[in-house]
Amino acid sequence: MSSLPERVDVVVVGAGTAGAATARFVAQAGLSVLCVERGALAEAGARWINGVALSAFDAAGLSRPTGDEARGHGHAFHFVAGRGPSRVVIDDHEVADVDMGLFVGRVQAAAREAGAVLEGGVEVHGVSGHVVDTSRGRVTTAWVVDASGHGGARLARVPPVDRRDLCVAAQQVRHVRDRGAAEAFFAAHGVPTGDTLCFTALDGGYSILNVRLAHDRLFVLTGSIPAEGHAGGQAIADTFAAEQSWVGDIERAGARAIPLRRPFDRLAHGPVALVGDAGCQVFSAHGSGIAAGLAAARLFAEALAADEGAAGYEHRWHTRYGGLYATYDLFRRFSQSLAPRDIAALIEAGVLEPVGALAALEMRVPLVPPHVAARQAAGLLRVPRLGARVAAMLARAASAHAVYAAHPTDPARLRLWSHAVARATATPVDPG
Ligand SMILES: Cc1cc2nc3c(=O)[nH]c(=O)nc-3n(C[C@H](O)[C@H](O)[C@H](O)COP(=O)(O)OP(=O)(O)OC[C@H]3O[C@@H](n4cnc5c(N)ncnc54)[C@H](O)[C@@H]3O)c2cc1C
Repeated sequence: MSSLPERVDVVVVGAGTAGAATARFVAQAGLSVLCVERGALAEAGARWINGVALSAFDAAGLSRPTGDEARGHGHAFHFVAGRGPSRVVIDDHEVADVDMGLFVGRVQAAAREAGAVLEGGVEVHGVSGHVVDTSRGRVTTAWVVDASGHGGARLARVPPVDRRDLCVAAQQVRHVRDRGAAEAFFAAHGVPTGDTLCFTALDGGYSILNVRLAHDRLFVLTGSIPAEGHAGGQAIADTFAAEQSWVGDIERAGARAIPLRRPFDRLAHGPVALVGDAGCQVFSAHGSGIAAGLAAARLFAEALAADEGAAGYEHRWHTRYGGLYATYDLFRRFSQSLAPRDIAALIEAGVLEPVGALAALEMRVPLVPPHVAARQAAGLLRVPRLGARVAAMLARAASAHAVYAAHPTDPARLRLWSHAVARATATPVDPG
């Protein structure tokens, strides 16, 4: 077992996507970096199949997944309200299904190549000033990046994540016992073999079951907020498998909680910066944190290179991504209150439609052409009760964008800004 360096410029805690990417960017900026992982490096981070927008790889300067890492791309998405029949279909999109074990390994290799030192089997217990206390001794550093995920090392005093903002997700790859019966299931739902069938608001609110048949495997992705009274992601997946006799045994699986609330207001706590799930940098509408973690990693390194420190990283994140993430969190909380019949009504009225759904899938602001916007506006009037709530949410979203764009660099104004964020997003104020 090699000993840890006594002193480095940056210690990164966690070697999942956010941590490994941070280590890489920081090393590329010419700083010495030690990235430690409490488990084996080969077991770090997400281990399942994740949907990741291709733009995230481009933005992180990483090539797009190929070979075994790429588990599917471009298949149409059928978002069904409840159990159907109303739906929105996205025919084409720029989101790839990625084997995360292989991808995390690739990012770790890129970090090493850039000069970062990665060590597995090292647990961080705490930080005192500029000294990081680990299971293998102390390391002195200028900056610490907490990329240890939700409920990881907790190196900064952050607000607890409300249970109503916690999604419990599960992903399974299952064998298919009876291919013919499987194809019949998808056909009965009007979905061509190979496309993704996504039951949204399965039991109302934020609960999804997402299935796709690829060759002789079934990809199952589920998520829900148990605090809202829904079965957890794993239970949804297991129930589906038990109900469908053609669904076979599990080949691989993972399940975990994902924080859905808007990213913490304070991402910088003295020398400690929060990156990835540790900072709640998750695209709330579908609980996706990979792209956010990669983007945050880059911004952190850019801030250090510009001599702006962790506070500069916080400022860069909020002004660049804060409005987008807060807006989709508003949408997520709104959707949490909808019954399947509400979603069906919004689809039938043309309010929920492919252009907006595609933007949400690809994690970006929708660029709605005027004729679609006009149809949506007319649709809002056709469902006045829901329409008024959608309009109120959109007004909040505009206000949230403006507040995040005005994130202050003066630390004395941060408290006031947090209050403005809380007002715009109708959420409690983060403690300072
Ligand atoms: C079932 C499921 C499906 C998902 N699907 C998608 C999807 O399709 N698309 C998407 O973008 N996102 C998805 N997500 C979310 C995504 O996996 C997470 O957002 C992402 O893994 C967060 O990355 P991270 O690097 O911030 O944290 P993590 O992946 O949690 O990595 C943190 C690492 O830190 C280590 N660590 C923790 N504490 C310590 C400590 N004290 N000392 C040292 N090391 C420590 C951990 O062992 C871990 O390896 C899904 C999540 C789940 C559960």
